[in-house]
Amino acid sequence: MKPFEPADRVKTLPPYLFAQIDKKKAQLKAQGADIIDLGVGDPDQPTPSHIIESLQKAAADPRYHRYPSYSGMGAFNESVARFYKRRFNVNLNPRNEVITLIGSKEGIAHLPLAVINPGDIALVPTPAYPVYSVAVSFCGGTSYFMPLVEQNGYLPDFSAIPKDIAQKAKLMFLNYPNNPTSAVASPDFFKQVVRFANENNIIVCHDAAYTETYFDGYLPPSFLETPGAREVGIEFHSLSKTYNMTGWRIGFAVGNADVIAGLGKVKSNIDSGAFDAVQVAGITALDSDQDCVEEMRALYARRREVLVEGLKSAGLEPMSPKATFYVWTKVPKGYGSADFAELLLTKCAIVVTPGNGFGQPGEGYFRMTLCLGEERLAEAVERIKALKL
Ligand SMILES: *Cc1c(COP(=O)(O)O)cnc(C)c1O
Repeated sequence: MKPFEPADRVKTLPPYLFAQIDKKKAQLKAQGADIIDLGVGDPDQPTPSHIIESLQKAAADPRYHRYPSYSGMGAFNESVARFYKRRFNVNLNPRNEVITLIGSKEGIAHLPLAVINPGDIALVPTPAYPVYSVAVSFCGGTSYFMPLVEQNGYLPDFSAIPKDIAQKAKLMFLNYPNNPTSAVASPDFFKQVVRFANENNIIVCHDAAYTETYFDGYLPPSFLETPGAREVGIEFHSLSKTYNMTGWRIGFAVGNADVIAGLGKVKSNIDSGAFDAVQVAGITALDSDQDCVEEMRALYARRREVLVEGLKSAGLEPMSPKATFYVWTKVPKGYGSADFAELLLTKCAIVVTPGNGFGQPGEGYFRMTLCLGEERLAEAVERIKALKL
């Protein structure tokens, strides 16, 4: 037997963004360093107790121990439809315009299997969540990258996409409020998206993981609020960030019934759905009063104040997020993203994510998360100030 040779799609995967950082982090930790990790976008707070109690009860109920329904528990999909009506004033048919996912990442990664043939083109933002382009390449598709840059408010410029590419493209990914830049999109921008998608017959996949993590009274829109959006696309959503449920693996996609059906067909041949007891807890999360979400926003808002004001006093220029728990900041003059991230790690024991790790146009920036307490953020600021940048 020859040594195992992975498939090309695995061999050609880009190097793991955090591998280098993780190695250094482990070394520093072994030397006893007090590391402040602002790298990972994973809420530090526990899932609210009423949701945990709901799972505990449902987990003990034998009705929920068998295979779940492929498209999701009817009651969960109805709960999602109520959430969209309440929050976005969008009417959804829970029977064919909603599908339950094992976390939205699962749906995002599987969707191209329903849309992309080998050789097809997908329009993918950069910098971005890496799953979009990897999922496209797993299907033999090619990503045409749409740079998100500061001058354009981190929105793609559709007029910069060559006509032949636009016409050949089958799929477009978007994500607002945005990870990693924290940029937000206006209803007018979404109107442009619908127009562009109609002109070029492109299916739009909007990743809306952060619509509930907002500040200062700013209310992020759903893409599906846009007239005509349901004809051209779907939206991915998740309970992960809204209810501190990243480990539970529960999300959903909503919108165009044909696209949802295509995704459902793919999924029914790959997975067998999310644990029914987790879906029951998800119903509790979506249907209960939303005080816990309000408290989460207040917590992140206080942290944002500490970090953003602190970074400014250290001589940096952070973008104060209107939504998401990410702070996107220019690196000081004379540094690249990787150098500066390395400096913060070795001199301050602070982990951040270099912006170019999300794609080349992210070069010159770094991302910090608000997933640590105010004291730790203040400590991080003190250490950065000591660098005298
Ligand atoms: C966290 C995140 C997700 C997905 O989270 P799930 O836990 O899989 O629901 C999707 N998109 C972006 C941009 C994210 O940051």
